[in-house]
Amino acid sequence: MRYRASALGSDGVRVTMESALTARDRVGVQDFVLLENFTSEAAFIENLRRRFRENLIYTYIGPVLVSVNPYRDLQIYTRQHMERYRGISFYEVPPHLFAVADTVYRALRTERRDQAVMISGESGAGKTEATKRLLQFYAETCPAPERGGAVRDRLLQSNPVLEAFGNAKTLRNDNSSRFGKYMDVQFDFKGAPVGGHILSYLLEKSRVVHQNHGERNFHIFYQLLEGGEEETLRRLGLERNPQSYLYLVKGQCAKVSSINDKSDWKVVRKALMVIDFTEDEVEDLLSIVASVLHLGNIHFAADEESNAQVTTENQLKYLTRLLGVDGSTLREALTHRKIIAKGEELLSPLNLEQAAYARDALAKAVYSRTFTWLVGKINRSLASKDAESPSWRSTTVLGLLDIYGFEVFQHNSFEQFCINYCNEKLQQLFIELTLKSEQEEYEAEGIAWEPVQYFNNKIICDLVEEKFKGIISILDEECLRPGEATDLTFLEKLEDTVKHHPHFLTHKLADQRTRKSLGRGEFRLLHYAGEVTYSVTGFLDKNNDLLFRNLKETMCSSENPIMNQCFDRSELSDKKRPETVATQFKMSLLQLVEILQSKEPAYIRCIKPNDAKQPGRFDEVLIRHQVKYLGLMENLRVRRAGFAYRRKYEAFLQRYKSLCPDTWPTWAGRPQDGVAVLVRHLGYKPEEYKMGRTKIFIRFPKTLFATEDALEV
Ligand code: ATP
Ligand code: MG
Repeated sequence: MRYRASALGSDGVRVTMESALTARDRVGVQDFVLLENFTSEAAFIENLRRRFRENLIYTYIGPVLVSVNPYRDLQIYTRQHMERYRGISFYEVPPHLFAVADTVYRALRTERRDQAVMISGESGAGKTEATKRLLQFYAETCPAPERGGAVRDRLLQSNPVLEAFGNAKTLRNDNSSRFGKYMDVQFDFKGAPVGGHILSYLLEKSRVVHQNHGERNFHIFYQLLEGGEEETLRRLGLERNPQSYLYLVKGQCAKVSSINDKSDWKVVRKALMVIDFTEDEVEDLLSIVASVLHLGNIHFAADEESNAQVTTENQLKYLTRLLGVDGSTLREALTHRKIIAKGEELLSPLNLEQAAYARDALAKAVYSRTFTWLVGKINRSLASKDAESPSWRSTTVLGLLDIYGFEVFQHNSFEQFCINYCNEKLQQLFIELTLKSEQEEYEAEGIAWEPVQYFNNKIICDLVEEKFKGIISILDEECLRPGEATDLTFLEKLEDTVKHHPHFLTHKLADQRTRKSLGRGEFRLLHYAGEVTYSVTGFLDKNNDLLFRNLKETMCSSENPIMNQCFDRSELSDKKRPETVATQFKMSLLQLVEILQSKEPAYIRCIKPNDAKQPGRFDEVLIRHQVKYLGLMENLRVRRAGFAYRRKYEAFLQRYKSLCPDTWPTWAGRPQDGVAVLVRHLGYKPEEYKMGRTKIFIRFPKTLFATEDALEV
């Protein structure tokens, strides 16, 4: 008996989730919760593979969107796609980023609750692209504000500027974000975007002075050299050829085929105007970019006493001019260290190695502080101009988090430690919020909550961040003992303090078998996503992030207005010791978690299909890793703990009413009663389903599949 024809979408893929189930052998299931064997990682990956083969890059785990980078333009972000996903119910159309975008926006509008979209995944997985598509979606589909329509352009144009200064070509991604980003978009009561705010996290500043083979420095340097007008370059004392600059030649790949620095430069120049830069400010900013390049070319030679002397007068001259500092002061600061002992100032000369270290430290500080300044400048331009008006108070906020995923390399250092700690925090929040929302839905529907077994990673977060006993505390303590402490004494102290922790291991603490895989200068953390071994080399130095005092003093006297804002005299006072890098990061993460906690979350999990940046290649080993590090199996388990499938009575009845003569063609009573009649007719057993207040909950996919197959008969 067949009452209803099933509909095919224009692309030949069945348009509703339920109907796609019947094509599941070919295209897999659109929601992982419908996998029969939901605990099997192999089944999970097979489903991803089938869909990827069909160019279906999106799949749900309940409300979570899993995305696989196609590395090709699939033409799925057009205006038509935006329209198609507007105002629809999440499950009635194939999974898509825009379905999430629209659902989030509607929740913001109707419930007036702040929302946060958290996008995670490893480098090259597509986080930044997703963020940009989301912004584009809102810019194009939301109503324009009554006043200050420019904010939409500013929101979009902040991106090329931040990418120019914060992104770089790496081995993993030609446009890799080297900082974490959280962006708020504020909407007025009519749903129009009226303002925004950006928080940035941990810029990888070591890249300014060093790049690995096959990698580049930040895009802006190459853009300026390629695209900068003749006159600009002349003023800045720059040559076009990147090979002339030591800070640009380390990776030996100034040219990247996928990047057009010249046209990107034009985009950035325009974008700077949109975000309210005056011509003077652009000049000041470029002076700083140029001075970093000149700094890299400062050479030293040793005099008879092995003290460093600057030998590159021309560079020094340009630096003096571009930074607006006194030449002899800068020369002295680059070759001496000022120490204040018992109220007396002492100048101690630096040797070659120390001078190079001081120079690089200055370059890193100048660049990273300029980046922070840039974020502040963008924020001033994005700030809602109506901040004082009454409508301001009724704004709602939509946050977009584009932050580095879990990192496990051959060699893991301080940076990976910070990044992976960040992922632990976000995982903790995820579990907390997912469990909470599941529980809330069960309660709202009047269905008994069945406790879920899951791994609570709080124990690892504590290991890293706890006061006095946590790894960061111990690291900070060692940083307080200059001259005495070393990376190895830090490791020893760690061993003493956290030796019995189940998630911590070192060579000394390991048993015979494990010991072989651990070097003496390493410690291993058992993260929720797996083991990572960190080398302690450089931990103290990177955490201290020392900039010699006289270099700071010199920069405080800079007449470049941007530098002047970046270096403040107050940091010269000895009274207050600056926070270490790890502690600053920890505090900014705590703040981030607080921000996210106050919002309704949505999740996008991005996966990179291969290391070659190529379309069509599905590297199973690589993908299995990511499924693990993204915690997707755990996510699915939590989601599937009770019921695989839940749907509003209206939707369920509408789809299946043709299977029962009592509900076909119309059911006059309450949808809930219609569904009750329907499932009785279909022979559902009591243990297979539950009736909630507004939804039917079905425990196993096979029940639903059987019903779905019946439609096809
Ligand atoms: P990182 O952590 O290094 O910043 P990421 O996750 O932000 O990485 P993206 O820069 O978003 O990665 O993506 C890397 C590249 O993959 C993009 O430059 C683009 O070429 C391609 N890409 C990503 N997502 C898509 C997509 N949805 N469609 C087509 N191509 C994509
Ligand atoms: Mg990125």
